[in-house]
Amino acid sequence: MITDLRTTLRSVPLTRPWGADVPANHVVRVEVELADGRIGTGAAWTPQIGAHAVRALLDHDIRDAALGLPAHPELVWDRLSAHLSEAGRGGLATIALAGLDLALWDLRGPLTEVLGERRPEIPVYGSGVNLHYSLDELVAQAERWKGLPAVKIKVGRPTLAEDVERVAAVRSVIGPDTALMVDANQRWDRFRARRAIEALAEFDLFWVEEPLPADDVAGLAELRRRTGVPLACGENVYSVHGFRDLLAAGACDVVQPNVVRVGGITPFLRICTVADAFGVPVYPHLLTEISGQLALTLRQPAMVEHVEDAALADLGLLAEPYPVEISGGRLRATGHPTRWAR
Ligand SMILES: [Mg+2]
Repeated sequence: MITDLRTTLRSVPLTRPWGADVPANHVVRVEVELADGRIGTGAAWTPQIGAHAVRALLDHDIRDAALGLPAHPELVWDRLSAHLSEAGRGGLATIALAGLDLALWDLRGPLTEVLGERRPEIPVYGSGVNLHYSLDELVAQAERWKGLPAVKIKVGRPTLAEDVERVAAVRSVIGPDTALMVDANQRWDRFRARRAIEALAEFDLFWVEEPLPADDVAGLAELRRRTGVPLACGENVYSVHGFRDLLAAGACDVVQPNVVRVGGITPFLRICTVADAFGVPVYPHLLTEISGQLALTLRQPAMVEHVEDAALADLGLLAEPYPVEISGGRLRATGHPTRWAR
């Protein structure tokens, strides 16, 4: 039975800011204590908006509703999700709920043991939050990524000519054998997206990520039908039903749920089951060490994203020993549980 829930908020500066408005990442560490004295730890994460609101939801609404419940992630998630629904079906409410859900899963043991590790290692791709980089800075980053199996850069500069120049420059640095993805972060409308994808197709893109607003499911489906380039999306989709709609519409080739934004491991696994039924692979979004452990257990192979110098361990958000090790563009589980730093 859950007898206490405690939180601490940590804000850590990014070595390489994700833009003028994202100089830091914020994590609300959650400690859940059971009647038998056992303690599980989890965390909610938000790179930019709402960390104090997330903590307040945890300290008040979630704590009050969770005390006295059995420490069973699925039961607790359904109960709390219904309790929080007035605050919205996704967003800060699910981000906050993830902190509790991750703590309850932590009590079960290391994720790869609990969920079953299906492969000993997975590829890690270099990911750059680099739309604000100069062309020279972007090329220098691509040089640092040499040897990785895949890399991803931001697109959506003011003119298409700039995007074409930047993608061409990165492709020429990494060569033809490294997979190259681009991420528009919802910046385009349907017209710009179609023109951009057609112009960038010559660079053999592994996928185009979030070319349209995340809610424009019909637009994504149409874009996917009209262009021959695979689409990836889902980092801003918050519910199992949202993913069901995306997949049923044929809107993407890869789904990228963020385990915190969707509300934790419990709903993440439900989303994976839906994606499996549609034959679409799940590539978990950001949160390298958590996503990496999950990806090792997924039915279909996936890569995980490593933003340069911004894995959770890079930011000092995890305590040693770490749950995964990353080297040579591969990630492996160490068997250690995930320990969120105080
Ligand atoms: Mg993205």
